[in-house]
Amino acid sequence: MLGIKQEQQSGHSWIGPAPWIETSLPGPNAKALIERDRRYSSPSHTRDYPLVVQRAVGSVIEDVDGNRFLDFAAGLEVCLTGHCHPKVIAAIEAQAKALIHICGSDFYHSPMVELMEQLVEIAPGKRPKRVLLTNSGTEAVEAAIKLCRYHTERKWIIAFHGAFHGRTMGALALTCSKTRQQERFGPLVPMVAHVPYGDAKAIETHLFKYKMAPEEVAAIFVEAMQGEGGYVVPDSSFLPNLRALCDKHGIILVCDEIQSGLGRTGKWFAFEHFGIVPDVILMAKGLASGMPLGALIANADIMDWEPGAHGSTLAGNPVCCAAALATLDLIGLTLMANAARLGERLRAQLRVMADKRKVVANVRGLGLKCAVDIINKKSGKPDPKLRHRILQAAFERGLVLLPCGEHGIRFCPPLCINETQLDVGLKTLDEALATVV
Ligand code: PLP
Repeated sequence: MLGIKQEQQSGHSWIGPAPWIETSLPGPNAKALIERDRRYSSPSHTRDYPLVVQRAVGSVIEDVDGNRFLDFAAGLEVCLTGHCHPKVIAAIEAQAKALIHICGSDFYHSPMVELMEQLVEIAPGKRPKRVLLTNSGTEAVEAAIKLCRYHTERKWIIAFHGAFHGRTMGALALTCSKTRQQERFGPLVPMVAHVPYGDAKAIETHLFKYKMAPEEVAAIFVEAMQGEGGYVVPDSSFLPNLRALCDKHGIILVCDEIQSGLGRTGKWFAFEHFGIVPDVILMAKGLASGMPLGALIANADIMDWEPGAHGSTLAGNPVCCAAALATLDLIGLTLMANAARLGERLRAQLRVMADKRKVVANVRGLGLKCAVDIINKKSGKPDPKLRHRILQAAFERGLVLLPCGEHGIRFCPPLCINETQLDVGLKTLDEALATVV
Protein backbone atom coordinates (compact mmCIF):
# COMPACT_ATOMS: atom_id res chain seq x y z
CA MET A 1 0.00 0.00 0.00
CA LEU A 2 1.62 3.10 -1.29
CA GLY A 3 3.38 5.42 1.07
CA ILE A 4 1.05 4.70 4.00
CA LYS A 5 3.86 4.70 6.53
CA GLN A 6 5.35 8.03 5.60
CA GLU A 7 1.99 9.68 5.09
CA GLN A 8 0.96 8.61 8.60
CA GLN A 9 4.31 9.69 9.99
CA SER A 10 3.84 13.13 8.48
CA GLY A 11 0.53 13.40 10.33
CA HIS A 12 -1.62 13.18 7.20
CA SER A 13 -4.69 10.96 7.39
CA TRP A 14 -4.63 8.36 4.69
CA ILE A 15 -7.33 8.24 2.00
CA GLY A 16 -6.13 5.14 0.23
CA PRO A 17 -3.53 3.96 -2.26
CA ALA A 18 -2.78 5.91 -5.40
CA PRO A 19 -2.88 5.59 -8.33
CA TRP A 20 -6.26 3.87 -8.05
CA ILE A 21 -8.53 4.14 -11.07
CA GLU A 22 -11.90 2.42 -10.83
CA THR A 23 -14.01 4.18 -13.49
CA SER A 24 -13.37 5.33 -17.02
CA LEU A 25 -12.20 8.96 -16.97
CA PRO A 26 -14.00 11.20 -16.55
CA GLY A 27 -16.33 9.06 -14.37
CA PRO A 28 -20.09 9.70 -14.23
CA ASN A 29 -19.99 12.24 -11.38
CA ALA A 30 -17.06 14.07 -12.97
CA LYS A 31 -18.88 14.21 -16.33
CA ALA A 32 -21.97 15.73 -14.72
CA LEU A 33 -19.95 18.41 -12.92
CA ILE A 34 -17.91 19.28 -16.00
CA GLU A 35 -21.16 19.74 -17.92
CA ARG A 36 -22.43 22.22 -15.28
CA ASP A 37 -19.07 23.99 -15.22
CA ARG A 38 -19.12 24.28 -19.01
CA ARG A 39 -22.42 26.18 -18.85
CA TYR A 40 -21.23 28.83 -16.40
CA SER A 41 -17.45 28.97 -16.20
CA SER A 42 -15.29 31.49 -18.04
CA PRO A 43 -13.99 29.80 -21.20
CA SER A 44 -10.58 31.37 -20.56
CA HIS A 45 -9.50 28.52 -18.26
CA THR A 46 -7.00 25.96 -19.56
CA ARG A 47 -7.74 22.41 -18.46
CA ASP A 48 -5.50 19.78 -20.00
CA TYR A 49 -7.62 16.88 -18.79
CA PRO A 50 -10.88 16.32 -16.87
CA LEU A 51 -9.80 16.02 -13.22
CA VAL A 52 -12.71 16.81 -10.88
CA VAL A 53 -11.41 16.82 -7.31
CA GLN A 54 -13.42 15.81 -4.26
CA ARG A 55 -10.72 15.76 -1.60
CA ALA A 56 -6.96 15.44 -1.25
CA VAL A 57 -4.45 14.54 1.42
CA GLY A 58 -0.67 14.85 1.24
CA SER A 59 0.31 13.92 -2.32
CA VAL A 60 -2.89 12.03 -3.12
CA ILE A 61 -5.97 13.48 -4.84
CA GLU A 62 -9.34 11.73 -4.92
CA ASP A 63 -11.88 12.60 -7.60
CA VAL A 64 -15.67 12.69 -7.32
CA ASP A 65 -15.91 9.07 -8.53
CA GLY A 66 -13.48 7.58 -6.01
CA ASN A 67 -10.49 7.47 -8.37
CA ARG A 68 -7.19 8.42 -6.75
CA PHE A 69 -4.25 10.17 -8.36
CA LEU A 70 -0.69 10.90 -7.38
CA ASP A 71 -0.23 14.65 -7.48
CA PHE A 72 2.95 15.73 -9.29
CA ALA A 73 1.64 19.28 -9.76
CA ALA A 74 0.74 20.38 -6.19
CA GLY A 75 -2.38 22.27 -7.28
CA LEU A 76 -0.29 24.36 -9.69
CA GLU A 77 2.75 24.63 -7.44
CA VAL A 78 0.80 25.69 -4.38
CA CYS A 79 0.44 22.76 -1.96
CA LEU A 80 4.03 22.77 -0.70
CA THR A 81 2.98 21.22 2.61
CA GLY A 82 0.82 18.67 0.79
CA HIS A 83 -2.94 18.82 0.57
CA CYS A 84 -4.75 19.59 3.82
CA HIS A 85 -1.84 19.24 6.22
CA PRO A 86 -3.30 18.78 9.73
CA LYS A 87 -1.12 21.57 11.16
CA VAL A 88 -2.32 24.00 8.49
CA ILE A 89 -5.94 22.93 9.07
CA ALA A 90 -5.53 23.43 12.83
CA ALA A 91 -4.03 26.90 12.34
CA ILE A 92 -6.88 27.89 9.99
CA GLU A 93 -9.54 26.52 12.35
CA ALA A 94 -8.11 28.23 15.42
CA GLN A 95 -7.72 31.58 13.65
CA ALA A 96 -11.20 31.40 12.05
CA LYS A 97 -12.70 30.99 15.53
CA ALA A 98 -10.84 34.06 16.82
CA LEU A 99 -10.86 36.55 13.93
CA ILE A 100 -11.60 36.03 10.23
CA HIS A 101 -11.12 39.54 8.97
CA ILE A 102 -9.81 42.93 9.92
CA CYS A 103 -8.28 45.11 7.25
CA GLY A 104 -4.51 45.06 7.72
CA SER A 105 -4.13 48.32 5.77
CA ASP A 106 -6.24 50.17 8.37
CA PHE A 107 -5.77 48.23 11.63
CA TYR A 108 -3.31 45.87 13.29
CA HIS A 109 -3.42 42.16 14.09
CA SER A 110 -0.95 39.72 15.53
CA PRO A 111 -0.81 36.97 12.81
CA MET A 112 0.13 39.65 10.25
CA VAL A 113 2.93 41.08 12.40
CA GLU A 114 4.22 37.62 13.28
CA LEU A 115 4.24 36.61 9.61
CA MET A 116 6.10 39.76 8.51
CA GLU A 117 8.70 39.12 11.22
CA GLN A 118 9.19 35.55 10.00
CA LEU A 119 9.40 36.54 6.34
CA VAL A 120 12.12 39.06 7.12
CA GLU A 121 13.86 36.35 9.14
CA ILE A 122 14.07 33.95 6.17
CA ALA A 123 14.97 36.63 3.60
CA PRO A 124 18.75 36.60 3.02
CA GLY A 125 20.84 39.76 3.30
CA LYS A 126 21.90 41.99 6.16
CA ARG A 127 19.95 45.13 5.22
CA PRO A 128 16.75 45.90 7.20
CA LYS A 129 13.60 44.89 5.39
CA ARG A 130 9.90 45.71 5.22
CA VAL A 131 6.96 43.61 4.03
CA LEU A 132 3.76 44.27 2.09
CA LEU A 133 1.18 41.47 2.01
CA THR A 134 -1.07 40.88 -1.02
CA ASN A 135 -3.83 38.49 -2.05
CA SER A 136 -2.04 36.86 -4.99
CA GLY A 137 1.13 36.70 -7.03
CA THR A 138 0.04 39.14 -9.68
CA GLU A 139 -0.83 41.70 -6.99
CA ALA A 140 2.64 41.31 -5.48
CA VAL A 141 4.12 42.00 -8.93
CA GLU A 142 1.77 44.95 -9.41
CA ALA A 143 2.78 46.40 -6.04
CA ALA A 144 6.46 45.91 -6.88
CA ILE A 145 6.11 47.81 -10.18
CA LYS A 146 4.51 50.69 -8.28
CA LEU A 147 7.07 50.63 -5.47
CA CYS A 148 10.07 50.59 -7.84
CA ARG A 149 8.70 53.50 -9.88
CA TYR A 150 7.79 55.39 -6.71
CA HIS A 151 11.16 54.95 -5.06
CA THR A 152 13.39 55.59 -8.07
CA GLU A 153 11.15 58.10 -9.86
CA ARG A 154 12.18 56.23 -13.00
CA LYS A 155 9.75 54.61 -15.44
CA TRP A 156 11.34 51.76 -17.39
CA ILE A 157 11.04 48.15 -16.24
CA ILE A 158 13.06 45.33 -17.81
CA ALA A 159 11.91 41.70 -17.89
CA PHE A 160 12.76 38.60 -19.93
CA HIS A 161 11.48 36.52 -22.81
CA GLY A 162 9.66 33.49 -21.42
CA ALA A 163 8.83 35.30 -18.16
CA PHE A 164 5.54 34.83 -16.38
CA HIS A 165 4.68 37.45 -13.76
CA GLY A 166 0.87 37.39 -13.72
CA ARG A 167 -2.16 38.56 -15.64
CA THR A 168 -3.22 41.97 -14.30
CA MET A 169 -2.32 44.85 -16.61
CA GLY A 170 1.03 45.77 -15.04
CA ALA A 171 2.18 42.20 -14.40
CA LEU A 172 0.91 41.22 -17.85
CA ALA A 173 3.14 43.85 -19.44
CA LEU A 174 6.09 41.99 -17.86
CA THR A 175 4.76 38.53 -18.77
CA CYS A 176 6.25 37.28 -22.03
CA SER A 177 5.77 33.52 -22.17
CA LYS A 178 2.88 33.03 -24.65
CA THR A 179 1.34 35.49 -27.13
CA ARG A 180 -2.18 34.35 -26.10
CA GLN A 181 -1.65 35.86 -22.65
CA GLN A 182 -1.36 39.42 -24.04
CA GLU A 183 -3.39 39.12 -27.27
CA ARG A 184 -6.12 41.79 -27.55
CA PHE A 185 -5.50 43.22 -24.06
CA GLY A 186 -3.26 46.13 -25.01
CA PRO A 187 -2.31 48.79 -24.47
CA LEU A 188 -0.65 47.40 -21.37
CA VAL A 189 1.38 49.37 -18.83
CA PRO A 190 3.95 51.23 -20.98
CA MET A 191 7.74 51.47 -20.72
CA VAL A 192 8.43 47.75 -20.27
CA ALA A 193 11.16 46.08 -22.35
CA HIS A 194 12.27 42.45 -22.69
CA VAL A 195 15.53 40.70 -23.55
CA PRO A 196 16.28 36.96 -23.86
CA TYR A 197 16.35 35.10 -20.52
CA GLY A 198 19.92 34.32 -19.51
CA ASP A 199 21.39 37.19 -21.53
CA ALA A 200 22.31 39.98 -19.10
CA LYS A 201 24.63 41.51 -21.71
CA ALA A 202 21.71 42.20 -24.08
CA ILE A 203 20.47 44.82 -21.63
CA GLU A 204 23.60 46.88 -22.24
CA THR A 205 24.19 46.03 -25.90
CA HIS A 206 20.55 46.44 -27.01
CA LEU A 207 18.32 48.23 -24.54
CA PHE A 208 20.82 50.78 -23.19
CA LYS A 209 22.05 51.41 -26.72
CA TYR A 210 18.75 51.73 -28.62
CA LYS A 211 15.88 52.09 -26.15
CA MET A 212 16.57 53.86 -22.84
CA ALA A 213 19.38 55.23 -20.70
CA PRO A 214 20.20 53.12 -17.63
CA GLU A 215 19.31 56.13 -15.46
CA GLU A 216 15.71 55.77 -16.68
CA VAL A 217 15.35 52.15 -15.51
CA ALA A 218 13.50 51.58 -12.25
CA ALA A 219 13.81 47.80 -11.97
CA ILE A 220 14.72 44.48 -13.51
CA PHE A 221 12.22 41.70 -12.75
CA VAL A 222 13.58 38.17 -13.00
CA GLU A 223 12.66 34.60 -12.07
CA ALA A 224 15.81 32.97 -10.66
CA MET A 225 14.58 29.79 -12.33
CA GLN A 226 12.01 30.42 -15.02
CA GLY A 227 8.69 28.62 -14.42
CA GLU A 228 5.90 28.87 -17.00
CA GLY A 229 8.50 29.70 -19.65
CA GLY A 230 9.80 26.12 -19.49
CA TYR A 231 11.60 25.50 -16.20
CA VAL A 232 14.80 27.15 -17.36
CA VAL A 233 17.74 26.99 -14.96
CA PRO A 234 20.01 29.87 -16.01
CA ASP A 235 23.75 29.82 -16.37
CA SER A 236 25.47 30.41 -13.02
CA SER A 237 26.74 33.86 -14.13
CA PHE A 238 23.36 35.28 -15.20
CA LEU A 239 22.03 36.46 -11.84
CA PRO A 240 25.42 37.74 -10.57
CA ASN A 241 25.72 39.73 -13.83
CA LEU A 242 22.25 41.20 -13.33
CA ARG A 243 23.15 42.05 -9.72
CA ALA A 244 26.32 43.86 -10.89
CA LEU A 245 24.40 45.74 -13.59
CA CYS A 246 21.78 46.89 -11.10
CA ASP A 247 24.43 48.00 -8.61
CA LYS A 248 26.25 49.94 -11.33
CA HIS A 249 23.17 51.90 -12.42
CA GLY A 250 21.06 52.14 -9.24
CA ILE A 251 18.42 49.78 -10.65
CA ILE A 252 16.26 47.70 -8.28
CA LEU A 253 16.66 43.94 -8.73
CA VAL A 254 13.34 42.18 -8.15
CA CYS A 255 13.33 38.38 -7.85
CA ASP A 256 9.93 36.90 -8.57
CA GLU A 257 10.01 33.84 -6.29
CA ILE A 258 6.26 33.33 -6.53
CA GLN A 259 6.74 29.92 -8.11
CA SER A 260 10.32 29.02 -7.21
CA GLY A 261 10.43 30.20 -3.58
CA LEU A 262 9.62 28.73 -0.19
CA GLY A 263 11.72 25.57 -0.23
CA ARG A 264 10.59 24.30 -3.64
CA THR A 265 14.18 24.22 -4.98
CA GLY A 266 15.66 22.87 -1.73
CA LYS A 267 16.46 26.38 -0.45
CA TRP A 268 14.12 29.10 0.79
CA PHE A 269 14.64 30.99 -2.48
CA ALA A 270 15.90 29.90 -5.90
CA PHE A 271 18.23 32.92 -6.15
CA GLU A 272 20.22 31.45 -3.24
CA HIS A 273 21.54 28.83 -5.67
CA PHE A 274 23.30 31.65 -7.53
CA GLY A 275 24.88 33.52 -4.62
CA ILE A 276 23.04 36.82 -5.00
CA VAL A 277 20.69 38.86 -2.84
CA PRO A 278 17.98 40.87 -4.65
CA ASP A 279 16.52 44.17 -3.40
CA VAL A 280 12.92 42.96 -3.59
CA ILE A 281 11.54 39.42 -3.23
CA LEU A 282 8.04 38.41 -4.34
CA MET A 283 6.14 35.42 -2.99
CA ALA A 284 2.66 33.92 -3.28
CA LYS A 285 1.41 30.48 -4.45
CA GLY A 286 2.40 28.12 -1.60
CA LEU A 287 2.94 30.81 1.03
CA ALA A 288 -0.28 29.93 2.88
CA SER A 289 -0.67 26.32 1.60
CA GLY A 290 -3.51 27.29 -0.75
CA MET A 291 -5.09 30.18 1.13
CA PRO A 292 -4.81 33.38 -0.94
CA LEU A 293 -1.74 35.30 0.15
CA GLY A 294 1.25 36.98 -1.46
CA ALA A 295 4.13 39.00 -0.11
CA LEU A 296 6.62 41.59 -1.20
CA ILE A 297 9.78 41.88 0.90
CA ALA A 298 11.90 44.94 0.13
CA ASN A 299 14.97 46.58 1.56
CA ALA A 300 13.59 49.12 4.04
CA ASP A 301 15.24 52.08 2.28
CA ILE A 302 13.40 51.14 -0.92
CA MET A 303 9.98 50.76 0.71
CA ASP A 304 9.75 54.47 1.38
CA TRP A 305 6.27 55.23 0.07
CA GLU A 306 3.91 57.44 2.06
CA PRO A 307 0.67 56.38 3.83
CA GLY A 308 -2.06 55.95 1.23
CA ALA A 309 0.33 55.10 -1.62
CA HIS A 310 -0.73 51.44 -1.62
CA GLY A 311 -3.01 49.05 0.28
CA SER A 312 -5.69 46.37 -0.04
CA THR A 313 -8.86 45.45 1.87
CA LEU A 314 -8.27 41.70 2.13
CA ALA A 315 -4.48 41.39 1.85
CA GLY A 316 -2.89 39.96 4.99
CA ASN A 317 -6.15 38.37 6.10
CA PRO A 318 -5.67 36.84 9.60
CA VAL A 319 -6.70 33.31 8.54
CA CYS A 320 -4.32 33.38 5.58
CA CYS A 321 -1.51 34.69 7.81
CA ALA A 322 -2.12 31.89 10.33
CA ALA A 323 -1.98 29.32 7.50
CA ALA A 324 1.27 30.91 6.29
CA LEU A 325 2.87 30.71 9.75
CA ALA A 326 2.10 26.99 9.91
CA THR A 327 3.39 26.59 6.34
CA LEU A 328 6.73 28.30 7.04
CA ASP A 329 7.15 26.15 10.13
CA LEU A 330 6.64 22.92 8.19
CA ILE A 331 8.89 23.98 5.31
CA GLY A 332 11.72 24.93 7.67
CA LEU A 333 11.37 21.82 9.82
CA THR A 334 11.54 19.06 7.18
CA LEU A 335 10.03 19.89 3.79
CA MET A 336 12.85 21.99 2.33
CA ALA A 337 15.38 19.27 3.15
CA ASN A 338 13.04 16.67 1.63
CA ALA A 339 12.82 18.76 -1.56
CA ALA A 340 16.61 18.90 -1.85
CA ARG A 341 17.02 15.16 -1.22
CA LEU A 342 14.17 13.86 -3.38
CA GLY A 343 14.98 16.36 -6.13
CA GLU A 344 18.28 14.52 -6.68
CA ARG A 345 16.43 11.22 -6.83
CA LEU A 346 13.84 12.62 -9.24
CA ARG A 347 16.45 13.96 -11.67
CA ALA A 348 18.47 10.73 -11.51
CA GLN A 349 15.38 8.71 -12.44
CA LEU A 350 14.37 11.14 -15.17
CA ARG A 351 17.85 10.78 -16.69
CA VAL A 352 17.39 6.99 -16.77
CA MET A 353 14.01 7.55 -18.44
CA ALA A 354 15.55 9.92 -21.01
CA ASP A 355 18.18 7.27 -21.86
CA LYS A 356 15.48 4.67 -22.35
CA ARG A 357 12.83 6.74 -24.16
CA LYS A 358 14.14 8.89 -26.98
CA VAL A 359 11.18 11.30 -26.81
CA VAL A 360 12.29 12.47 -23.35
CA ALA A 361 15.11 15.03 -23.32
CA ASN A 362 16.78 17.82 -21.35
CA VAL A 363 16.32 16.71 -17.76
CA ARG A 364 16.78 19.78 -15.56
CA GLY A 365 15.74 21.44 -12.35
CA LEU A 366 16.52 22.41 -8.79
CA GLY A 367 15.09 20.57 -5.78
CA LEU A 368 11.57 19.33 -6.48
CA LYS A 369 11.17 21.68 -9.44
CA CYS A 370 12.22 19.59 -12.42
CA ALA A 371 11.24 19.20 -16.04
CA VAL A 372 11.89 17.28 -19.24
CA ASP A 373 11.18 18.21 -22.84
CA ILE A 374 9.17 16.05 -25.20
CA ILE A 375 10.69 15.77 -28.65
CA ASN A 376 9.99 13.92 -31.87
CA LYS A 377 11.92 10.65 -31.85
CA LYS A 378 13.14 11.04 -35.43
CA SER A 379 13.58 14.78 -35.94
CA GLY A 380 14.50 15.70 -32.35
CA LYS A 381 12.20 18.73 -32.69
CA PRO A 382 9.76 19.94 -29.99
CA ASP A 383 6.56 17.87 -30.02
CA PRO A 384 3.78 19.66 -28.07
CA LYS A 385 1.11 17.29 -29.47
CA LEU A 386 2.95 14.24 -28.18
CA ARG A 387 3.38 16.06 -24.86
CA HIS A 388 -0.40 16.47 -24.67
CA ARG A 389 -0.94 12.76 -25.36
CA ILE A 390 1.56 11.82 -22.67
CA LEU A 391 -0.16 14.07 -20.09
CA GLN A 392 -3.48 12.50 -21.03
CA ALA A 393 -2.13 8.94 -20.80
CA ALA A 394 -0.53 9.67 -17.41
CA PHE A 395 -3.82 11.10 -16.13
CA GLU A 396 -5.70 7.99 -17.28
CA ARG A 397 -3.27 5.95 -15.18
CA GLY A 398 -3.70 8.15 -12.11
CA LEU A 399 -0.80 10.59 -12.35
CA VAL A 400 -1.40 14.35 -12.34
CA LEU A 401 1.23 16.22 -14.36
CA LEU A 402 1.31 19.66 -15.94
CA PRO A 403 3.01 21.12 -19.01
CA CYS A 404 5.48 24.01 -19.04
CA GLY A 405 6.99 25.99 -21.88
CA GLU A 406 6.45 24.91 -25.48
CA HIS A 407 7.04 21.18 -25.03
CA GLY A 408 8.05 20.58 -21.42
CA ILE A 409 6.50 18.47 -18.68
CA ARG A 410 7.05 19.76 -15.15
CA PHE A 411 7.49 17.71 -12.00
CA CYS A 412 6.58 19.75 -8.93
CA PRO A 413 4.95 17.46 -6.37
CA PRO A 414 4.12 18.58 -2.83
CA LEU A 415 7.34 18.86 -0.82
CA CYS A 416 6.06 16.15 1.55
CA ILE A 417 6.13 13.48 -1.17
CA ASN A 418 8.02 10.34 -0.17
CA GLU A 419 10.37 8.01 -2.07
CA THR A 420 7.72 5.38 -2.75
CA GLN A 421 5.28 7.88 -4.16
CA LEU A 422 7.97 9.45 -6.32
CA ASP A 423 9.06 6.08 -7.69
CA VAL A 424 5.49 4.90 -8.31
CA GLY A 425 4.67 8.17 -10.09
CA LEU A 426 7.67 7.81 -12.40
CA LYS A 427 6.82 4.18 -13.10
CA THR A 428 3.30 5.30 -14.00
CA LEU A 429 4.72 7.90 -16.36
CA ASP A 430 6.95 5.29 -17.96
CA GLU A 431 3.92 3.08 -18.58
CA ALA A 432 2.10 6.05 -20.09
CA LEU A 433 5.08 6.73 -22.36
CA ALA A 434 5.10 3.10 -23.49
CA THR A 435 1.50 3.39 -24.70
CA VAL A 436 1.86 6.60 -26.73
CA VAL A 437 5.37 6.40 -28.16
N1 PLP B 1 4.91 35.10 -10.98
C1 PLP B 1 5.21 33.83 -11.25
C2 PLP B 1 6.66 33.42 -11.41
C3 PLP B 1 4.20 32.88 -11.41
O1 PLP B 1 4.50 31.61 -11.71
C4 PLP B 1 2.85 33.29 -11.25
C5 PLP B 1 1.75 32.32 -11.44
O2 PLP B 1 1.89 31.28 -11.99
C6 PLP B 1 2.58 34.63 -10.95
C7 PLP B 1 3.62 35.51 -10.81
C8 PLP B 1 1.17 35.11 -10.76
O3 PLP B 1 0.65 34.60 -9.58
P1 PLP B 1 -0.94 34.52 -9.36
O4 PLP B 1 -1.46 33.47 -10.29
O5 PLP B 1 -1.10 34.20 -7.91
O6 PLP B 1 -1.49 35.87 -9.69
